[in-house]
Amino acid sequence: MELPRSAALAARLEVLPSTGSTNDELIARATGPDPWPHLSVVATDTQTRGRGRLGRTWTAPAGRSLAVSVLLRPGLPLGTLGWLPLLTGLAVARTLAALGGAARLKWPNDVLIGERKACGILAELLPDGSGVVVGVGVNLTLDEGELPVPTATSLALEGLDPDPDALLAGVLGELGSLVDRLAAAGGDAIAAGLRDDVVSACDTIGRAVRVELPSGEVVHGAATGIDGTGRLEVLPDGADAGNALHVAAGDVTHLRY
Ligand code: ATP
Repeated sequence: MELPRSAALAARLEVLPSTGSTNDELIARATGPDPWPHLSVVATDTQTRGRGRLGRTWTAPAGRSLAVSVLLRPGLPLGTLGWLPLLTGLAVARTLAALGGAARLKWPNDVLIGERKACGILAELLPDGSGVVVGVGVNLTLDEGELPVPTATSLALEGLDPDPDALLAGVLGELGSLVDRLAAAGGDAIAAGLRDDVVSACDTIGRAVRVELPSGEVVHGAATGIDGTGRLEVLPDGADAGNALHVAAGDVTHLRY
């Protein structure tokens, strides 16, 4: 896989013919004897042990997807780093929109085209807290029979150009400027206007949702917004306005009205 446009935007970029997990590869380079800098990238089209949240797996047939990890060292307080996966999703959605796709975010870490998932994102904090690695998996050329789950889709299936270099260059350009905006505001995503940008791109907001919390508790309600630290605001069915839950982690299902 050749990525010349992306290489010009990344601080460092390594393309691997195949790897278990690009996040693991980049974490090793970020924490090694010559620590890689902000906006360094590891990419492959063949990832064999991709991780999702909570020990779930991300799977794609060899050569049919883009798995890429980006190192972010924005120099921000830990409490604001929850914005980085949301900004990564926004960068992917904007890039897909520029390619002609109607892409929307599903809080906290998916990018949907229509109701189906074209991209998943997994952010991991470096062990020393000096940065975050965001892993992005995008389905490029999978056909219907190759989709790992029925809720997935690919760029080719959606009629979009599945060129990995155009996609990654777009994402790096967008993500670099979004993170700069967050850093310039000292991590205050509301003051930076980034909370509003994410909310307007997020399909979850304004929908009826089912949320399964890490405790196992299930809440039905309306997703009403995103707070200053990136948590989803959910007003449980029957609760008074003002009693919204602020959900930091959970499995969200979009329900139909
Ligand atoms: P959900 O997709 O249900 O919202 P999640 O956001 O927790 O779950 P992740 O942890 O980001 O998901 O990714 C893992 C899940 O994504 C898997 O459990 C599977 O349902 C789905 N998945 C795995 N591989 C792909 C793929 N190539 N394309 C789309 N979805 C995938």
